[in-house]
Amino acid sequence: MRAAAQDKEFARTGLVALAVATVLFSLSVGVALYRAKEQLQLETMSQRVSVWFSSQALVELHRLQSALHLGDPERPRDWRERVQERHEILLSRLKLLTETNEETSDALHRQADRVHEMIRAVEALDPDIAAFDPADRALAARIAAALGRVDDDLVRLNLLLHHERADLLTRARENGQQLTVILGLCLLGLMVSVGLLIALLRRGEQRAVQAEETLRGLVDALPVAVVAFDGAGGLLLANGAARDLYKLDGGGAPRGPFDGGAPSWLHADAVATQASGRPLPPEEREVVDADGRRRSLVVAAAPVLTTRVGVERVVSVGLDVTDRREADARIRHMALHDALTGLPNRRFLIERLKEALEARDARSLVAVHCLNLARFRTVNDSLGHGAGDALLLEAAARIGGVLRPGDTLARLGGDEFAVVQPGLVGKAEAEAAAARLVQALAAPFRLAGCTVHSAASVGTALAPLHGLGPETLLQRAGIALDRAKEKGGGGVEMFSAEQEAWLVDRQRLEEDLRAALATRAFALHYQPKFRLRDGVVTGCEALIRWRHPERGWVPPSDFVPVAEEAGLIHDLTRFVLHEATGQSTRWSAAGLALPVAVNLSATHFATGQVLPLIREAIGATRADPSLLEAEVTEGVFLEEAENAIACFEELRRMGMRLALDDFGIGYSSLGYLRDLRFDAIKLDRGFVAGVAEPGPSREIVDAVVRLAHGLSARVVAEGVETEAQLVALRDLGCDDVQGFLLGRPLPPAELTEMLRAA
Ligand code: C2E
Ligand code: MG
Ligand code: MG
Repeated sequence: MRAAAQDKEFARTGLVALAVATVLFSLSVGVALYRAKEQLQLETMSQRVSVWFSSQALVELHRLQSALHLGDPERPRDWRERVQERHEILLSRLKLLTETNEETSDALHRQADRVHEMIRAVEALDPDIAAFDPADRALAARIAAALGRVDDDLVRLNLLLHHERADLLTRARENGQQLTVILGLCLLGLMVSVGLLIALLRRGEQRAVQAEETLRGLVDALPVAVVAFDGAGGLLLANGAARDLYKLDGGGAPRGPFDGGAPSWLHADAVATQASGRPLPPEEREVVDADGRRRSLVVAAAPVLTTRVGVERVVSVGLDVTDRREADARIRHMALHDALTGLPNRRFLIERLKEALEARDARSLVAVHCLNLARFRTVNDSLGHGAGDALLLEAAARIGGVLRPGDTLARLGGDEFAVVQPGLVGKAEAEAAAARLVQALAAPFRLAGCTVHSAASVGTALAPLHGLGPETLLQRAGIALDRAKEKGGGGVEMFSAEQEAWLVDRQRLEEDLRAALATRAFALHYQPKFRLRDGVVTGCEALIRWRHPERGWVPPSDFVPVAEEAGLIHDLTRFVLHEATGQSTRWSAAGLALPVAVNLSATHFATGQVLPLIREAIGATRADPSLLEAEVTEGVFLEEAENAIACFEELRRMGMRLALDDFGIGYSSLGYLRDLRFDAIKLDRGFVAGVAEPGPSREIVDAVVRLAHGLSARVVAEGVETEAQLVALRDLGCDDVQGFLLGRPLPPAELTEMLRAA
């Protein structure tokens, strides 16, 4: 910017100086011309004939005077003739003075009368001259006297003319000197003008050179590959980026014939542009640069100088888009892959599935396996997220290990994976593959120093048997997976129409459940618990009952899990708690003071919402917390165990009792028994069923009774249906029993009646 301003200033000053010099030069040329003309005049004047004529007249006068006196007396005739001749010459010389056109001679001008006088005086001598006789002395004296007067005048005139000429010569000399000076000045002005002009041109030239250098430097430093070609396809210029990207010779801008080491399309593009005279549309090109890296370029060629002859300059511009392409690829990868495992995500899987379905031939099958990893949340919660991540990575690796090259494994999210297997020949092959997946994940995982068993469930759907669209197949494999999980996990389920019917049924059930909650269409039945020792009723368990308008009685084991999954369990528990605590208060008021146990779903403890619900119910019904018992299954320790423990402690502080339900069939770790004290441990019906006969069930019941007593907890046997079981349980030291043998779940009024009757 500053240089440009300086340039402008310089150019302006230069132009002003040039203008002044030119004016001066023109002026001096004018003056010189004028002076030169004057000089010419002066010189002409100084060489005028009048001086010569007057001098000649004077000479002739003197010759006449001499002729008057000098002659051969012997030959008087010749003497007279010579005098007459001289007289005539004198007269003609004097007349010449009047005939000159020299107007500029001031002196002659002023003396014109005198000249005429002299002429007249000389003419007046004519008779005397004609009569001249050397012997006539008087005559001669008269002539001489007259001539003497003319002589005086003529001398004066001659003197005047000589002075005038001398003046003219002096003036001419001075004028000449001035002319020299003026011409010198002229020359100087000219030289200054020319010098300035040269300086300006030089400066302009320098600027042009600098501008070209700057431009070249700029082009050289551009992060865009710029290559210029001449009309014959010869290389004119290649900037730094072009030299690197196209591996053109390094060091300076190469000129001359095109370097054959560069990519061939570069030259071909230039030739094509030259031939067509039109720009080539940008095209993506790949090159290996001077450092051996693969680069992506967007290259365009265009004619930049077209003359009558044709296209004389073509420029090719290549923009390095490698970084952008890599970023695009990264973004695409991120959009289609799971960040943790690097596996394809659901979107990518759908794409691959689509491709596999399109490529499928009439006889082959495409399998979609949905896979769920059990215990993922437990691992995350108990061993930390690092261990959870490690479990997923290890699982992904194991699954990958049993797949064929054309199969695609994806992580759908959380602990769910999916596999697409194209080109299967039959259903059996798909089942075998699903079994291999389960088996791959059956072996224990070593995570954070712990051994974890994470059985996987797999649901499989096949194209074309179960659908032809990717979404449908994935959804149906998901239904099969739900079914597999429903069946207890660790197994394989192939999709079937019944499953779909089951799903539809389940969805209907969910809707009905929602409606039932709104109308409070539930009831609680209470099943009594008896002390084995003396048969005294020690309490009762509240069990929810739902009479469906069409289905009739729906068992809680059918609808409670649905309520849990549909997010309805909160409202369901609120209903149960209000009913149970209300009944407890009523029994207390009736003097029965019967402890009531309520089943609390494990999902409540994960969300921590159960305490407010209990407080709300107790507050509303004024129930006595010490007559309330919470029954939880081991499942609470699978999810958010710390939350659950904190909740239990709070319940205990409130005065409530805790029972561990369905003991022995859930979580295999006994660690939580160390952390948490239970008032009662309820033996699962499965063990009770076999307790009458010697065998594992009996051994387990025996061990559980000892364990519970060791932890100061009572043992309650569930599902006692026979006397034999009752006897066996008494023998093993069981504390309480609950079962159809002694009392079925009953509506509260009936239980009250039964208790009153007892
Ligand atoms: P649970 O807590 O283990 O309840 C005992 C279940 O055993 C009850 O089934 C009961 O009717 C049944 N039962 C009792 N004695 C016998 C017997 O001698 N033989 C047989 N075969 N069964 C017997 P129910 O009422 O169908 O409940 C099933 C499960 O549903 C319950 O198991 C409990 O886990 C859940 N449940 C029931 N009511 C509720 C509730 O209000 N809230 C929650 N969250 N779960 C509930
Ligand atoms: Mg129970
Ligand atoms: Mg139970």
